[in-house]
Amino acid sequence: MSVLEIRDLHVSVETDQGTKPILKGVDLTIRTGETHAIMGPNGSGKSTLAYTIAGHPKYSVESGSITLDGEDVLAMSVDERARAGLFLAMQYPVEIPGVTVTNFLRTAKTAIAGEAPPVRSWIKDVRGAMTDLRMDSTFAERNVNEGFSGGEKKRHEILQLELLKPTFAVLDETDSGLDVDALKIVSEGVNRAKENTGLGLLLITHYTRILRYIKPDFVHVFVAGKVAEQGGPELADRLEDEGYDRYLSDAPVA
Ligand code: ADP
Ligand code: MG
Ligand code: MG
Repeated sequence: MSVLEIRDLHVSVETDQGTKPILKGVDLTIRTGETHAIMGPNGSGKSTLAYTIAGHPKYSVESGSITLDGEDVLAMSVDERARAGLFLAMQYPVEIPGVTVTNFLRTAKTAIAGEAPPVRSWIKDVRGAMTDLRMDSTFAERNVNEGFSGGEKKRHEILQLELLKPTFAVLDETDSGLDVDALKIVSEGVNRAKENTGLGLLLITHYTRILRYIKPDFVHVFVAGKVAEQGGPELADRLEDEGYDRYLSDAPVA
């Protein structure tokens, strides 16, 4: 078993108006095999947490820690984080001119595993995962993120998740912009990855919709940069009925 631990994490972002504190003491422990949903209103800092785990340079950790089996994640480069077993869906959001999906995936797999995957089994794995995600085979020869639709970007993320087999994955708003059919396909892919590799999953979402397909073991409600409440799946059901009003009424507006 592996553990990803976030302790009293304070993070700020550089803006034109100066340094703005966003995360104000986040504590979270995720073990492999567990799915944690982070839910919360817009602007509560959910993506900031994801970017901080990813090592995005715009976000400064003021205090606190993130460790993976005791190793200091914050001291790792973005590449080192990937090699340590962290998968961050927003890690490669940009177009990569001239790099096809096939070559990108193979390069990423080689970097993470420390050696190139055997060609035959690799091609079989890629084709299998693409078929499962109902992706046309021509997708493999397209350049990464070039002209990808919202749904294609999400499927490409889950394709990476299935093939790179991380220990922990952070998925930020994977449900956004997906119609119900695409959401089901993408969720099935996430669930396959969970079953096949026993990964730990941090599923960030504003809406409860995706949690019908990917069942969380724990739900954390994020408000104004910290966890305001945590519970089991029943907490998501309550949020579905009640929304976030109860948290916002007594929270100062940032
Ligand atoms: P969420 O994902 O929960 O909607 P975010 O983490 O995206 O929240 O944003 C939290 C707060 O931090 C918001 O007030 C947002 O405007 C601010 N923020 C986040 N990233 C930046 C940035 N790069 N520049 C300026 N403000 C930012
Ligand atoms: Mg937002
Ligand atoms: Mg966000």
